[in-house]
Amino acid sequence: MAAVDALVLGGGSGGLAFAKRAGRLGARVVLFESDLVGGTCVNRGCVPKKMAWYAGQLAHALRREAAGYGFFWPGGAQPMFDWGFWRQQREQALERIRHGHRRALQEAGVTLVTQRAMLAGPGEVICGNGRWHAPCVVLATGGIPVIPHVPGAALGMTSDGFFQLQDQPRRVAIAGSGYIALELACALHALGSVVTLLVRSDHLLRGFEAACVRHLATILEEQGIRIVWQTPVDSLEQQADGTLVAMSSSAGHGPYDAFFWAVGRRPATAGLGLELTGVAGDAAGHVITDDRQETNVPGIYALGDVTTQPALTPVAVAAGRALAERLFGDRKDRHIDLGLVPTVVFSEPPLAAVGLTEEQARARCEEVRVFESTFLPLYHTLSGVPQRTSMVLVTAGAEERVMGLHMVGRDVDEILQGFAVAIKAGITRSDLLEAIAIHPSSAEEVLTLPPRAC
Ligand code: NDP
Repeated sequence: MAAVDALVLGGGSGGLAFAKRAGRLGARVVLFESDLVGGTCVNRGCVPKKMAWYAGQLAHALRREAAGYGFFWPGGAQPMFDWGFWRQQREQALERIRHGHRRALQEAGVTLVTQRAMLAGPGEVICGNGRWHAPCVVLATGGIPVIPHVPGAALGMTSDGFFQLQDQPRRVAIAGSGYIALELACALHALGSVVTLLVRSDHLLRGFEAACVRHLATILEEQGIRIVWQTPVDSLEQQADGTLVAMSSSAGHGPYDAFFWAVGRRPATAGLGLELTGVAGDAAGHVITDDRQETNVPGIYALGDVTTQPALTPVAVAAGRALAERLFGDRKDRHIDLGLVPTVVFSEPPLAAVGLTEEQARARCEEVRVFESTFLPLYHTLSGVPQRTSMVLVTAGAEERVMGLHMVGRDVDEILQGFAVAIKAGITRSDLLEAIAIHPSSAEEVLTLPPRAC
């Protein structure tokens, strides 16, 4: 039996962050990852998704916007998109990132074991024929896409399948209305696929600011993404020519060349041996932790998407680093603060949000005020695309403390980060009004948003 200081199960964003930081602080760490190092974020999530988003942005710029600025292609030809070339470029870039992670682990003195491991008891992990022991075991196994239990479900893919596609599908349907459904829909649409979004309810992006979500839905439909509301998919059928039809309340939708399930993710805890240690989970299978990543079993910690904390890479990374510093550094009270976590949905245009929505603020705060503007960003005055940006600022109290900022439109993905820091620091609306603007920009609009017209 090999004894070390920490055993980490899962080499995604959270597990890597913990292992590297703990290793640099002098701990002897073993990290088990049976798949590619980097986990969902690097291999089939954030990073390749953002590369798809960038490809989509370029497609829009070339095909939709450049002419407004005086760019024309000889003979009226359109630029071609080569899916195979893009895939190759993307894979090479991802391998460079994985290489960087492997090197950083090595530099931190972390042992990487590329095999599946499971808990054998408190402080004990088995992997192949090996048995390891450590006073600290970190569960960071992440999540996997949900596939509903309906007839023919396996005919559909998930976001994992999107990143393996050798060719671009022509007619695509996506079931879902969350982050992944919208990001897939927008990337595929921008690259030239005909996209239908099958939404089981009458809304997208539950929990986000309603005004921004409505604005985004309108833009998506105007762009040509077909949204079919109130349409839960009951089954999938394959036709003789190989195409797929989605059935909902006996009505058929399609045919489609590819179908994606984007109906949520669940924690990857199967076969982890939680039952052997008594680690408590919730009904959905998430490992329950406190804000110090501690489970109910002393010495067993969890972080990232396997827990109930927001399933966002920066949250997992922050949790991993904080735990390592608390256990092996001199910051004995280190833990993460999950208040005011900013987030961006990389749709086209992107939607960015931090803090309370109007509805949440009205339920929790006194004297809630809403400031709002919808405007055409300067870029689109020449592009000829009538895509307006929408911004909603929520304040509370007589001092108008900023409780939330929600935006849809060009560049809001980059605009949000700085404002999120300021909002966390407790700014009021008068701080915004007194700030010197950057002109011309869309960001400057945040400083002077007018009260919402009743
Ligand atoms: P989400 O939790 O964002 O959304 C799931 C969606 O699926 C909901 O809109 C839900 O609709 C819908 N849904 C659930 N079951 C069904 C069903 N049977 N049929 C049709 N629709 C259904 O999940 P995602 O998988 O999109 O993303 C998972 C998480 O990963 C996100 O919550 C986020 O934390 C993270 N993520 C973050 C990204 C980013 O930071 N840009 C990108 C991608 C993922 P309803 O509202 O009706 O319940």
